[in-house]
Amino acid sequence: MVEQAEDLKILVVDDERSIRDGVERVLTRMGCTVRTAADGRQALDILESEAIAISILDLKMPGMDGMELQQRIREMDDRIVVIIITGYATIETAINAMKEGAYDFIPKPFEPDHLKIVVNRALEKIRLSREAEALQAERERTLMDLDREKSRARTIIESLPVGMVVTNTDGEVVLKNPAFVQSLELDEAPGYGEQIELCVADAGFCDFIKALSRGEYGVNGDVPSYELIVSGNKYLLARGRPVMNEKKECIGAVVALSNITSLKMLDQLKSEFVAKVSHELRSPLSTIHEQLATVLKDVTSAEPELDQNLIERAKEKTNALISLIGDLLDLSRIESGSLMENRKSVQVADLLKSIVDFLGTRAESKGQSLSFDAGDQDLPEINADPMALESIFGNLITNAINYTPEGGEIVVAVRAEDQQVKVAVSDTGFGIPEKHQAKIFERFYRVKDENTRYITGTGLGLPIVKGLVDSLCGTISLESQPGKGSTFTVCLPLEGSHAG
Ligand code: ADP
Repeated sequence: MVEQAEDLKILVVDDERSIRDGVERVLTRMGCTVRTAADGRQALDILESEAIAISILDLKMPGMDGMELQQRIREMDDRIVVIIITGYATIETAINAMKEGAYDFIPKPFEPDHLKIVVNRALEKIRLSREAEALQAERERTLMDLDREKSRARTIIESLPVGMVVTNTDGEVVLKNPAFVQSLELDEAPGYGEQIELCVADAGFCDFIKALSRGEYGVNGDVPSYELIVSGNKYLLARGRPVMNEKKECIGAVVALSNITSLKMLDQLKSEFVAKVSHELRSPLSTIHEQLATVLKDVTSAEPELDQNLIERAKEKTNALISLIGDLLDLSRIESGSLMENRKSVQVADLLKSIVDFLGTRAESKGQSLSFDAGDQDLPEINADPMALESIFGNLITNAINYTPEGGEIVVAVRAEDQQVKVAVSDTGFGIPEKHQAKIFERFYRVKDENTRYITGTGLGLPIVKGLVDSLCGTISLESQPGKGSTFTVCLPLEGSHAG
């Protein structure tokens, strides 16, 4: 806290009693606490025992003169403000005293007002410099706190059970913890400022971190992730966020690694289980279906129409079950990678033509037009498993037929563009409201509204399509307007334009 005038003691040193008393009177009236001394010795005694803020000294005194006293004061405490009182004759000396560090001087004889002005100025100077000292102390304390805070944060990061790394916009490591080094089984921890790829072998993971660090994704608050495998059997999930400054600019990235090996194993077990159960269910169901179909042909009873109806519904249900099981089998084949084993060069236009021909009858039965537009260029071949392609486009075209009312139009168009084959399946159907568009690629997700109410399905078609497109390093996008129709566009890389 900054002192008031009365907290600051002023020492008046003059051999002339009248001056001493006069000065004391003026200063006391100003509210100051005053000590007086008749010579240098007395002054030093007071200075030794009391905290003096301002010393007003006469230059000319017997024994120790003002200059010498000023020197001694400076040695004792250079924060004491010295004011010199001097006669006209010694103005030169006063200037010298100022050079030696005196704050001001008052020529004799002086008016009380002059003394007041000079002392007030000195008090103000003391107040300001004490304020500055207090601020400096405060700043140092904050810096120390900050330092302590920093080291506390560092200790916490070091102790985190999940691996963590922080990079700057150039993808250089600025912070990492021991769990990061352990999770990735690195021989050596990356040094400060080292490029991430110098110590981590997985190129995809490095690209993920670098793109995050440049703010290429995740800036909207989503948490992008990347999966990597270490030593062939350990699965890690890297999840990251760009680090933003106050101006909302990306200044790097923070990425956390978690070990998801056990989840992966569980997922694999589940897929194997689904595959097995589906397989076991399929043949008895198909048999029931066949038998129902046979019975249906020659059913005779008192109420043949009712029987016919019941069995017809049973047949429909078994058919739906068979298609669900087919989808589950497809899913587990995608997960095990077996749908990707038979890659060969495929002419997509031919394959699409045959699917369109095959599904033409179904569209016709709904009074829809299903057409194929192959463009006028020759299409290059792509490298893929034909079964996977059939599944992708079969699903998309079947959906277009299912979710388009009678009399609608479906067009399948294929083009070669930018080292890709681009297939668009467009319909003039119900369309998909915006809020469902991202979700329909999730397993078992179906839009439930007036239009789709009576359409049976499993909600597995699009997840299968997405899984297959991903494994072919392609992309799928959707444009749709409720009431107008939808276009699903699949882009697949041309042969040789991608690794694998
Ligand atoms: P399913 O068709 O078996 O329900 P999908 O995964 O193939 O499952 O599709 C999920 C949902 O997406 C569908 O239930 C449907 O609501 C919507 N959908 C898919 N394709 C279209 C389309 N062409 N037009 C309108 N809605 C569609």
